[in-house]
Amino acid sequence: MNRMIIFSAPSGSGKTTIVKHLLTRFPTLEFSISATSRAPRGEEQHGKDYFFFTPDDFTARVQRGEFVEWEEVYAGVYYGTLRSEVERIWKKGHVVVFDIDVKGGINLKKMYGKQALAVFVRPPSPEALQQRLSARATDTPETIRLRLDKAAYELTFAPQFDIELVNDDLASAKLQAEDLVRGFLEID
Ligand code: 5GP
Repeated sequence: MNRMIIFSAPSGSGKTTIVKHLLTRFPTLEFSISATSRAPRGEEQHGKDYFFFTPDDFTARVQRGEFVEWEEVYAGVYYGTLRSEVERIWKKGHVVVFDIDVKGGINLKKMYGKQALAVFVRPPSPEALQQRLSARATDTPETIRLRLDKAAYELTFAPQFDIELVNDDLASAKLQAEDLVRGFLEID
């Protein structure tokens, strides 16, 4: 059976770190490279971190039905999962791993049912989340406030996931995530 593991979370919950860790631990897992209409940041590369499309190209691909799911994650900025990406990974016999927003995660879970394990990564508390976002030092106070508001909204979707992983201590969250993968893939 083709399978997938979905990680979704409010911004600042540490999900990307957890996903990266799992990819180093389980060779059968392969990351689904998303498409986005935003510009690359820093060292990001097309076809490695994301497929970077212009907004027009992204919209045209939506109309051609190239995405399994897509969302306007931030105002005017689109992110989506290409059908071709999921098929490429399954063709290799690998398990697809997603790092996607909460609504996208729920949509994939609805589509793929038992083939999918949907994990909600929960930041420990609003205060801790605020500290983490502030510590990144890349965002303005206004951006941080918007992200916190969005996080509060996204937390209301947690019950729609198969499981919640509380990330109050990164080392233990990584180990718990490994256990979840082993359980889902039925490996010792
Ligand atoms: P960033 O721009 O910081 O890389 O990502 C912004 C947000 O978009 C993150 O919450 C990330 O999980 C989400 N995201 C990335 N790829 C996808 C995707 O393919 N679909 C959806 N729905 N969200 C995505």
